[in-house]
Amino acid sequence: MDDKDKTLHVLGLSGGKDSAALAMYMRDNYPDLDIQYYFTDTGKELPEVIDFVNKLAGYVGKVVDPYEEVYTSNREKKDFDYQLRKHKNYLPSPQARWCTIQMKLVPFEKWINLKMEKEGYTKVISYVGIRADEPSREGFLTNTINSEYLTIKMPFREDGLNREDVFNILKKADCFADDEEVVSYRQLFVNQKTGEPKDPTDIEIEELMAVLVKQRNEDNDNQSNVSTELLRKIVEAKDSGKPGYYGWRSRSGCTFCFYQQKIEWLRLKEIYPDAFEEAKNYEKTVEEARADGTFYWLGKGTPLSSLESPERKAQIEQNHLKKFERFQKKLDRKRPNLLQIKVKVIDTDVMDDIYDEVEGGGACVTCYK
Ligand code: SF4
Repeated sequence: MDDKDKTLHVLGLSGGKDSAALAMYMRDNYPDLDIQYYFTDTGKELPEVIDFVNKLAGYVGKVVDPYEEVYTSNREKKDFDYQLRKHKNYLPSPQARWCTIQMKLVPFEKWINLKMEKEGYTKVISYVGIRADEPSREGFLTNTINSEYLTIKMPFREDGLNREDVFNILKKADCFADDEEVVSYRQLFVNQKTGEPKDPTDIEIEELMAVLVKQRNEDNDNQSNVSTELLRKIVEAKDSGKPGYYGWRSRSGCTFCFYQQKIEWLRLKEIYPDAFEEAKNYEKTVEEARADGTFYWLGKGTPLSSLESPERKAQIEQNHLKKFERFQKKLDRKRPNLLQIKVKVIDTDVMDDIYDEVEGGGACVTCYK
């Protein structure tokens, strides 16, 4: 590197666990690097993702949104609806993934170029949360990113950190320590009279979840119809430092992301019925606009409404449970008999394995890491 080079260090947060843990890791282990943390908000993120990114901003200092930096005067013109019209009312899909390009990568590139132009940077190092236990890949980059000035670094790979290490980093940072649901949950683990630690019974946990569900339903802004069972998973995720969506969905990203499994769509409907309706409305919009037929979020001939009948819903849930149980048995067979370790595995953690997919069938670093 030339002496005259001025390097910009950037780390993109996706709202996912790996990039979040990497941001914490870099702040704690490489404090001398002046890293610019960024999160490109598509405007269609889950509330839990926004909540998590806000917590992260508290941890790492500041998180900028390239969208806001480059489209300050006409942000709404660059949002999903605008892009959908521009793409002739074709919903994005794994084969035509214009959403990531237009809503994540283009703002990022414009932001980088602006910084290079205005602040005199000549090199960019982008830190990516690829772990030591997964294949190396650089993510979803367009050709306009110039490899002459951009270098990708993978500190987790270089330093040998795996998935377990990522979970430990998140647990240690404990971003949700002041979250009301987490505070109530943790109180169950302490004898309120003596202050001694205790293990709550399942009934105690269920009772608390029933109270928390009621509180959520009383909140007018939240039309959620979440079950106590699902809420428990959400609270347990936050209790271990992970974003709440991790209790029911395997990835961050847009509410209507086409990479989610059918079971995740059903859970979206349960927790965020408005977001599910919005996704259905987009299907209606493109149906009306395209006389030559259309693809839905789930592909051709499968509108979201086809998931909604009680019979279909039960079928999807049973199928998911069966697949998850089969996967757990496989995992048990692999575990060392001598140690007999019973590690609690949640389905969101192993969704790709359950459905035999590699990285969500093409999902990538940009949206989910
Ligand atoms: S999360 Fe899904 S829908 Fe959103 S930009 Fe990424 S690929 Fe597209």
